[in-house]
Amino acid sequence: MKLMVLPCDGIGPEIMSATLEVMEATSKRFDLGLVFLEEESGFTSLKNHGVTLREEVLDRARSEFDGVILGTQSHMDYPPLVEGGRNVSAGFRIGLDLYANVRPARTRSFIPNKAPGMDLVIMREATEGFYPDRNMYKGVGEMMPDRNMALSVRKITREGSMRICREGFKLAMQRKKKIAAIHKANSFLMTDGLFLECFREVAKDFPEVECEEFIVDAFAALLVRKPEAYDVVVATNFYGDILSDLASELSGSLGLAGSINANAETGLCCAQAQHGSAPDIAGKNIANPTSLILSAAMMLIWLGEQRGIQKLIDAGEAIAETVDQVLDDPAKRTRDLGGTVNCDDFGRFVAAAVATKELSSQPA
Ligand code: ATP
Repeated sequence: MKLMVLPCDGIGPEIMSATLEVMEATSKRFDLGLVFLEEESGFTSLKNHGVTLREEVLDRARSEFDGVILGTQSHMDYPPLVEGGRNVSAGFRIGLDLYANVRPARTRSFIPNKAPGMDLVIMREATEGFYPDRNMYKGVGEMMPDRNMALSVRKITREGSMRICREGFKLAMQRKKKIAAIHKANSFLMTDGLFLECFREVAKDFPEVECEEFIVDAFAALLVRKPEAYDVVVATNFYGDILSDLASELSGSLGLAGSINANAETGLCCAQAQHGSAPDIAGKNIANPTSLILSAAMMLIWLGEQRGIQKLIDAGEAIAETVDQVLDDPAKRTRDLGGTVNCDDFGRFVAAAVATKELSSQPA
């Protein structure tokens, strides 16, 4: 299986290196035959190719690879698009039509947190919404008619809403058969109204799933008040982005949550940390690589489920379990969690533990 690897900017190279150490050990232990091929992106690509993400990289990801592991990008520091500053993350989401951004947030009793008992997954739409680079056929969805006025356009489609809601319900069927739709249809009658209409339409195909609907601002408060009450949460792009950061920070740290971007129809998947490029700590070997390691594990599980390959699922679950075992020991935590361990050492601890992991089932 071939995986494209793009370390990108900031702490990206450090957390990628720790993640690859874990993935190599996992591949060996579970006989996965993973092959990793690195591609340039971000500032390295800008320097060498004049653009932060080349179209040919996307073409290759689409046609030659089984999955992508994407590091972090310093998008805010990129030059304008005309000077080569292309949003790498959006490039993958749009270019590969990775509409489902799956973002779990789970508290661990042994990590200080603000949301005891929380264990939810935010299913965030990722190819439309308020994001100006993904809601126009030509041009961008943000404009300034004069220097004192800025306008923004939001795109919500029936197709986009139906498919993300369907993914949400499918996930709910695998979990607690419970789903919450997030909207603000009281104000955005047409856009959020359309999303809600699609949610109710898809719900008819999943009669076993208990459905709830929440207005986004109220849900932000409820998530803090009773975080244990929710399971699968389906949301449009912008709401899902904000709520997932809230949920993962409540779980203890932004650095603890994995995430994938996926398309169930094409089978394409990209693992990506939930946090940003953390320029303040880049190059110091102190970042916490947990988020990217767990993202890579999620991708293995997702690919395993898509393709019916049990050993990929076992391998992904083994990584997630091992990360928890390592985190359980305060002496093995990185600085953001109050420990003293370096980024590469954390990767080594996880890799070493995975390498001796008990195999629960025979390779398929
Ligand atoms: P960007 O511009 O790429 O979004 P940012 O610094 O504005 O970067 P984040 O990268 O999400 O946003 O970082 C927010 C804070 O959390 C920073 O202080 C950063 O150092 C810290 N942080 C983020 N990720 C990690 C991590 N993996 N390990 C440790 N600290 C992290």
